[in-house]
Amino acid sequence: EYVIVDGEILDRTVAKVDIEDRGYQFGDGVYEVIRVYNGKMFTGKEHLQRLVESAEKIRMKLPYSPEELEPKMEELISKNELDTGIVYMQFTRGTSPRNHVFPAADVAPTFVAYTRKVARPVESMEKGVRSILDEDIRWLRCDIKSLNLLGNLLSKQKAAEAGCFEAILHRGETVTEGSHSNISIVKDGVIITHQADNLILNGITRQKVLEICSNEGITFEERAFTLDELSAADEVFSSGTTVEVMPIVEVDGKPVRNGEPGLVTRNLQNLFKAEIERQCGQ
Ligand code: PMP
Repeated sequence: EYVIVDGEILDRTVAKVDIEDRGYQFGDGVYEVIRVYNGKMFTGKEHLQRLVESAEKIRMKLPYSPEELEPKMEELISKNELDTGIVYMQFTRGTSPRNHVFPAADVAPTFVAYTRKVARPVESMEKGVRSILDEDIRWLRCDIKSLNLLGNLLSKQKAAEAGCFEAILHRGETVTEGSHSNISIVKDGVIITHQADNLILNGITRQKVLEICSNEGITFEERAFTLDELSAADEVFSSGTTVEVMPIVEVDGKPVRNGEPGLVTRNLQNLFKAEIERQCGQ
């Protein structure tokens, strides 16, 4: 298995980062996860663009442009003979003696990338998954895909311990997103999902779903919705790079409508699959 450390392709067993890497000490860095189908990256350009934006938001300059990163990831995918899975990539603010202040400008970011086999979650997508509600205790820059994920981890762990796939996060009465995905509801045929602001990560999957809706004439609203609206929803679904469009059939022990995936979600799953096949082949 091959990985990339600082631009170099190495065997996984010899890859190393320093104990004073700022990612390790502070979570001072940004990352991306890109889906791979048939050995090809899906929405790769959109993910690389978001990586650049996340880096800019934490005042970090990436040593490579998206145009330089794309072929590197392609090379890694090919060397690892990855068919269906993900590419993970992260940049930290580099290695320097521990200090909250940024290191000097000549300290280069640490760049790490690897691939992993991940199947499409076909069974869960078919049956739907269960969720819990949890207060969103994260910071106010959730639009940045940063390495600081403790709030997300605590919520996801709580969900896992309850035998659930996702924690739906809310700030008071307002639903924001999931611990590792975006959340949408469907009411009377209209899809409602939180607007892309500082309180959510603007998921690439979320954006692709909304683009599909625009093309297909499916109505949607990008606005905050409440816990009451969530309870009264006809359908609830989660979206994300690895989970695609995932029906949520239970929230905090209560079934969503009849407890089965709804027709709007089903339709979106099919349209999303068609988009995958268009970009990456069958
Ligand atoms: N929100 C959070 C908190 C996430 O971690 C993710 C990534 N899995 C998403 C939303 C979905 O983003 P994307 O569709 O780009 O994977």
